[in-house]
Amino acid sequence: MSIKNDNDPHSLFLEKCKEHNLKITPQRIFIYKELIKSKNHPSADTVFKAIKKEFPNISFDTVNRTLLTFYEIGLVELVEGHGSPRRFDSNLQPHHHLFCLKCGKIIDFTYKEYDNLKIPETINKEFKVVQKRVILNGICSECEKKDH
Ligand code: ZN
Ligand code: MN
Repeated sequence: MSIKNDNDPHSLFLEKCKEHNLKITPQRIFIYKELIKSKNHPSADTVFKAIKKEFPNISFDTVNRTLLTFYEIGLVELVEGHGSPRRFDSNLQPHHHLFCLKCGKIIDFTYKEYDNLKIPETINKEFKVVQKRVILNGICSECEKKDH
């Protein structure tokens, strides 16, 4: 079983839905496209606001459940650790995050040396690391500008 995880998110979407017997509905396609489009790791609420313009009758609960289903079938990742609402990440390639403490923006970046970060022996003994992501907290350039 090999899931192609190349640069064609649409084929990944179809493949994952098929694999998990998930019906491909216009709403699900829209939600996934929204996740791909958004570079800012949207929350369920952000996705909900976007989809409501297209499908006015959709409920927040449906959107939220769809996002969690996407997470369960490995279509998106959850970005944890910033308190407030859960955020979703459609970028499944190894990458790291810049987190703006002022506006909550999360920016992707890649850095080989962080990918290859060595896990201390003491941690490996009691904790099985399955993913490594470095999060750099700080102030983004837009917020920095506003302050001056
Ligand atoms: Zn900011
Ligand atoms: Mn990301």
